[in-house]
Amino acid sequence: NEPYNKVKTDVLVIGAGGAGLRAAISAADAGLKTTVVSKSLIGKAHTVMAEGGIAASLGNVDPKDNWQVHFGDIMEEGVYLSNWRIAEILAKEVPERVFELEKWGALFDRTPDGRILQRAFGGHTYRRLCHVGDRTGLELIRTLQDQALHRDIDILDELYITKLVKDGDRVTGAIGIKMNTGEFYALSAKAVVIATGGAGKVYKVTSNSWESTGDGIKLAYEIGATLMDMEMFQFHPTGMVYPPGVRGLLVTEGVRGEGGILLNNKMERYMLKYSPEKKELDARDVVARANYAEIQAGRGTEHGGVYLDITHKSPQYIKEKLPHMYMQYLEFAGVDITKEKMEVAPTIHYQMGGIRFDPETCMSSVNGLFAAGEVACGLHGANRLGGNSLADILVFGRRAGNSAAEFAKKESLVEIPEDEVQDQISSVLSFLKEKGTNPYSIMDQLTTAMSDNVGILRDEDHLNKGLEKILELKKQYASLGVPGGRRYNHGLLACMELKSMLIVSEAIVRSALLRKESRGAHARTDYPKKSKEWLKNIIINKDGENMKFDYIPVQPTPPELAQYYKPEVYS
Ligand code: FAD
Repeated sequence: NEPYNKVKTDVLVIGAGGAGLRAAISAADAGLKTTVVSKSLIGKAHTVMAEGGIAASLGNVDPKDNWQVHFGDIMEEGVYLSNWRIAEILAKEVPERVFELEKWGALFDRTPDGRILQRAFGGHTYRRLCHVGDRTGLELIRTLQDQALHRDIDILDELYITKLVKDGDRVTGAIGIKMNTGEFYALSAKAVVIATGGAGKVYKVTSNSWESTGDGIKLAYEIGATLMDMEMFQFHPTGMVYPPGVRGLLVTEGVRGEGGILLNNKMERYMLKYSPEKKELDARDVVARANYAEIQAGRGTEHGGVYLDITHKSPQYIKEKLPHMYMQYLEFAGVDITKEKMEVAPTIHYQMGGIRFDPETCMSSVNGLFAAGEVACGLHGANRLGGNSLADILVFGRRAGNSAAEFAKKESLVEIPEDEVQDQISSVLSFLKEKGTNPYSIMDQLTTAMSDNVGILRDEDHLNKGLEKILELKKQYASLGVPGGRRYNHGLLACMELKSMLIVSEAIVRSALLRKESRGAHARTDYPKKSKEWLKNIIINKDGENMKFDYIPVQPTPPELAQYYKPEVYS
């Protein structure tokens, strides 16, 4: 038998991004023994990359703003697929979470009279995004990390979770490998919060970090959690296009929020045509498709993008409001954005689908398994509004931590059985062999197939092609192998991540084939219209080796919310 480390805790939080850290703070404050694990180093989670801000209706800049308008914006721009109660909770609770961050030391940009400054973002009726220049995620993580480290929270970083464990219908912990030492861990817990972020790495061109391989989706799905809206994957309208090494890297919506305009190679401001009212600040799906259409029509730039221009603002203003963008273009592309236009194109950005959860408790369909953040699904419907993800991780991270703590107080610890740990260790180590299929080659084929066939515009033929390729690659999974040992072996990590990527990709494509309409981020050229029949969420459950699909009509509840929003679309 292989040796391994045993950890016993009340609440296990998987993920140290904003959602995970906020959950851990709540669980620890409830007096429970709390352990956080993350596959990268603490402070390096994907949240750190967030730029533009946190959406909260403080009304500091536009006094008419309130939670009801924020709620209406979520429903409208999510094209009616969002869960009403989840949207209501977010809109009501996020101002308090922003003030809490401020109390904990986050240094937001300020209005002249000293209140938190708010900027415009696409699809938000009012200027709503609380920000720290264009480095909001860094400040958020720094603040939460500081709070977490001052509490009695155990942190195990570079610990990659490979499996969740169940006893009957309840989750009882997780098994993983510490990548820097090669040691295995069995972590028994009374409750588990999954906060593993998104899956943008299933596409070739993405704004996401290396971590976003959809592990949480796989972990939860494999022990019976229900997934939802997996076809809904957001393209951000503006990613870098050049040089090739940085293709896909995000160009924050903050540039357009601060007045940046989009131009084609004829120097036409084409958003006046695609969206005369909202122009560059329409919802992301609309602007992304407009950029794509201009490029496809041959009106793109030298490197296959469109222009984003903010040179009409003063250099001082640009450097103050967009310091990160200024440096990013200067260092990576040799472009001074105070004098020159940026070249941008759509890039995969955010997974709206994920683990279905109960709005009040954040519990998934598996007893004791709570989900929060990008891995969870229900808030954004068919299209996420910028700023609502940082809002989401604070509001639902806190709620998930509280609920997990309540749950853990009532449960006893069930230790993970030795044979289950040994089986998992053998399964991980089976990838270590001299001769085997290279995981990076499969990843490359998978991401190419996803980008080529399941992109910004979809149709049945391409989706079927994509599915065929995924199924072919799935068959090759069994033959994967990498040389080397178990310590710091990136190839070994890739073998494990690839499993998540295959499951996520299959779920996206199969759901996309089922949804025979166009709605938000899901645009089908063969079904170009939105259909009332499709006012429903597609859910997925594991059925043996197959995915079982079902539909849940979106419930306009609680009904009193209808006064803040157009309820007629549901009747
Ligand atoms: P993450 O921050 O992704 O954290 C996931 C954690 O899970 C990590 O610690 C990771 O190590 C861990 N993990 C994953 N798998 C495993 C595993 N198998 N075992 C152990 N640990 C694991 N949103 C906004 O609202 N406003 C913005 O301005 C904004 N800007 C953005 C800019 C960029 C460039 C990008 C890419 C996104 C932006 N977003 C923004 C989106 C937002 O940043 C993310 O959706 C959000 O931060 C996700 O937070 P999270 O806590 O759910 O996950």
